[in-house]
Amino acid sequence: MSAKVWLVGAGPGDPELLTLKAVRALKEAHVVMIDDLVNAAVLEHCPDARIIRVGKRGGCRSTPQAFIHRLMLRYARHGKCVVRLKGGDPCIFGRGGEEAQWLRERGVAVELVNGITAGLAGATQCDIPLTLRGVARGVTLVTAHTQDDSHVNWQALAQSGTTLVVYMGVAKLNEIREQLMAGGMPSDMPVAMIENASLPHQRECRSHLAAMDSDAEVFQLKSPAILVIGRVVAAAAASHESQGSGYRIPQNL
Ligand code: SAH
Repeated sequence: MSAKVWLVGAGPGDPELLTLKAVRALKEAHVVMIDDLVNAAVLEHCPDARIIRVGKRGGCRSTPQAFIHRLMLRYARHGKCVVRLKGGDPCIFGRGGEEAQWLRERGVAVELVNGITAGLAGATQCDIPLTLRGVARGVTLVTAHTQDDSHVNWQALAQSGTTLVVYMGVAKLNEIREQLMAGGMPSDMPVAMIENASLPHQRECRSHLAAMDSDAEVFQLKSPAILVIGRVVAAAAASHESQGSGYRIPQNL
């Protein structure tokens, strides 16, 4: 393989949720630069590669973005195949777009590989169908943490009629609740808070809008976690409970 940077999504944590294409890129990589939300178990696919950890967790000591850019560029210019491995999907709150553009402007070939983003994975792992027919017409992925401190228009989102999947929301539960309620979202709107989605230590806290921050405190919810806010959260539970009515699967199958 010629020099290239692959910007690869490693999925939400469960190594089995890695794509086949991600595995192929890892197998061919000389250098793997890995974010700290990536489960290191996926490195079994690249036993001979040089592994560089470039974690950037919010609030912690992190590798400056400019340094990561320069490192990728340097390896690529030395003819190395570089995999930049990111949690979830590289382009969902993952700077994949920025990094691809920066490298391409410098003449480096870049290929983006999808990963399963944490919000979608977390919901499905908890049996929450984000776009359940007749209940939600869509889903909105939104971050509660904005780098420039610009404000998310929660009040508009409250009126969107879509299921809300909130990333980086653990430290902002209070503000999210207040703003969604100010936007007219009913206080009994079901909420699921899912920590470490798809990993063996995944935890899920079910609540409703008015109580979500106090319930999260009792539950000791910690990052990384996503919030799912919408009727589908309760609809899923209800459809479980109602199983047995309607169509039946023949016993002799
Ligand atoms: N590119 C990633 C998101 C990176 S932003 C993706 O597509 O998933 C980091 C945020 O993602 C965390 O603060 C948390 O809100 C969410 N997150 C990442 N991994 C998670 C996991 N396993 N469980 C729950 N939330 C997760």
